Amino acid sequence: MTTADDLPLRRAIIDTCLAMNRSGVNQGASGNLSVRHGDGLLITPSGLPYDETEPEDIVAMGFDGAWSAREGRRPSSEWRFHRDILQARTDVDVVLHAHPTFATALAVHGRGIPAFHYMVALAGGDSIRCAPYATFGTQELSDHALAALDGRMACLLGHHGMIVLGRNPKAALALAVEVETLARQYTYALLLGDPPLLPADEIGRVAEKMRRMKYGQSPD
Ligand code: 13P
Ligand code: ZN
Repeated sequence: MTTADDLPLRRAIIDTCLAMNRSGVNQGASGNLSVRHGDGLLITPSGLPYDETEPEDIVAMGFDGAWSAREGRRPSSEWRFHRDILQARTDVDVVLHAHPTFATALAVHGRGIPAFHYMVALAGGDSIRCAPYATFGTQELSDHALAALDGRMACLLGHHGMIVLGRNPKAALALAVEVETLARQYTYALLLGDPPLLPADEIGRVAEKMRRMKYGQSPD
């Protein structure tokens, strides 16, 4: 049931999904978004185009997987990894999943994004890992995703897409755009041969500088 208390959050979820598709990071009704709320999460409904989604269509779910929704709506098929990530990662409040073209092209080859560019550090380490393939919506996919996200704010999903975490919807979308940009740049760099990588100590320096500057963190 939508309450006055969670209405702004439901609206923010829809607005972020619409912005996600406008940004080119995602297409159509694929992808999904969840936000921590109370003792659980609010999550986009399965298969509903974002421009047809109303606040009442957003599904409320507890960490035990029990959910309540408007008639005819059910939670995103990927609710397991949204639930598991929000439960395990108390440092984040938002999980965004999308099928961006370049990130997915790399993930088809099982390739993550190494430190070919210093901005890789924005995702929390010296690489953005690619989780092995598992069928969408499965516990196996959730387990793979959680492992690939260890110490990171983003990962790719083999033969599927990407997951990005954030402290708020705006920050998650901004990071998704950065990761897809890195995937595009890395794909082009690969056309010229295997690109040289930055050493781990330089990525450590960059990560520390980004932390100090609160680089890329949305204030809201
Ligand atoms: P839903 O429409 O069920 O959220 O699924 C989209 C998707 O990306 C599955 O991986
Ligand atoms: Zn998907």
